[in-house]
Amino acid sequence: MEIRSVRGMNDLFGEELYQWTQVENRIKQIFGSFGYSEIRTPVLEKTEVFSGTVGNETDIVEKQMYQVITDSETYVLRPEGTASFMRSILENKLHTSGQPSRFFYYLPMFRHERPQKGRLRQFHQFGAELINDSSPEADAELITVLDQIYKSFEITEYRVRINSVGCNQCRGDYKETLKNFFRPKLQQLCEQCQKRFERSAMRILDCKRENCRETTKTAPLITSCLCADCKAHHERVKSCLIQAQVKFEEDPYIVRGLDYYTRTAFEFTSELLGAQDALGGGGRYDGLSARFGEAPFPAVGFGLGMERLMIVLKEKQNLPQFNFAPSFFFAPIGEKAFEILYPLSLRLKRQGIWCDISYDKTKGLKWFLKQANRVNANYSLMMGDEELKNGIALLKDMKQGSQEEIPMASLENELLRRVHREP
Ligand SMILES: [Zn+2]
Ligand SMILES: [Zn+2]
Repeated sequence: MEIRSVRGMNDLFGEELYQWTQVENRIKQIFGSFGYSEIRTPVLEKTEVFSGTVGNETDIVEKQMYQVITDSETYVLRPEGTASFMRSILENKLHTSGQPSRFFYYLPMFRHERPQKGRLRQFHQFGAELINDSSPEADAELITVLDQIYKSFEITEYRVRINSVGCNQCRGDYKETLKNFFRPKLQQLCEQCQKRFERSAMRILDCKRENCRETTKTAPLITSCLCADCKAHHERVKSCLIQAQVKFEEDPYIVRGLDYYTRTAFEFTSELLGAQDALGGGGRYDGLSARFGEAPFPAVGFGLGMERLMIVLKEKQNLPQFNFAPSFFFAPIGEKAFEILYPLSLRLKRQGIWCDISYDKTKGLKWFLKQANRVNANYSLMMGDEELKNGIALLKDMKQGSQEEIPMASLENELLRRVHREP
C-alpha cells in the first residue's frame, strides 16, 4: 500500500502541534474572558442539518460535503460550524431561557475542494455564537472578540470590513433592484453567477472573477436600500466599534457566501495570506432557526480559520517557542547507578517535572552528555562508580556549563529546589 494520508488532510505533531496548542489555549482564554463557554458537536450530522439550512445553493452543500454511507442512512462530515451549533442549541433547548448566552467551539471541518495554501479538506475552525441578543452591541462584541484574538498575537496586518445585508424586508426590495440591474447584463457574468441570478443574486457581488467584478462595480448597493431599523442598527454597531477601538471600514460588497445572514456581516482579511486572504468572518443570522422549522431567535457569530492564523503567525515569525526540553537529563553509568536514578526520575515525573532518563545501561558519559545537549536539557545528572563510592551525584548546569557535587542523601530536595528556581 502507499502510505499517505488523504489529500488535503494533514498530520500534526512535534513542534508544529505544540505551537497549535499554545495558540488554541490563548484563544480559549480570550473566549473565557468575554464569557463564552465551549460547546462540542459530533463530526457526523444528518445531511438535512446543512442541506435545508445553510442553503442548497451554496457551494458547501452543492458539492463539497463528504458523505458517510451506512446500510440505512447517509450522514455528512461537518462542513461548517454554525448549522451544527444551531441543531445542538435547538435539540438541547439552550435558547429557551430567552437570556443572552455565549458559546464558542473549536472543531475540525471537512470540505471536498481543491487543496491549496490555507485551504485544506480537513481544516480547523474556532467559532463563537451569541444567542438571544438582537442588539447592535452584540454584533459589535463578536467583531471585538475576533479583533482581540488577532491583536493578542500582535498581528496588525489585517483589515476589518463590515456591512449590513439588511432584514428580510429591505433585502427583498434590494434583491429586486439588483436583479433589474443584472438582467440586461447576464451575458457578461460567469456561468456560476448566471445560475445564481434567480435564487441568490446578492452572491454575484461576492464573485471574484474579473468580468463579474467589473460588472458589479456599478451595481446598486444594499446601503441605499436599508430600512430605518436596519440603518439605525448598523450605525450603532459602528459607533460601538469606535468605542471598542476596532479599526474597520465599510464594504457594501460583503454579502457572505451563506444566505441565512441578516443585518451585520463582517470579514477579516490579511494581505499576509496571499490570494486566499480571509482570516475570519461572520455576522448575524436571526433567520437560521426558522430553517429548522423552529421559532426564530436572534443569533450572531463568527468563524476563525486556525490554518490561516498559523500561516500569518509563521509569516510574522510570531509562532510560540517550542519548549519541550526536560528539566533534567539523567545519566546513570552502569546498573547500580540506574537502580538509584530510575526510581528518582519516576518520583520527579510524578511531581510534574519532565526528567529524561535513558534505559540503555551500556552507554558512557560522553554519549549521555551528547544526548542531554540534543534534547536541550536544563541540567544533566551524572552518576558512575566513582560518584557512588563517594555518595554523591554530579549536576551539570547545561546552560552555564558549571558543575557541582550533590550529596546523595539530599539529591531529590536539591533537584526540586532548582526546578522551582526556574522561571
Ligand atoms: Zn431592514
Ligand atoms: Zn461570477
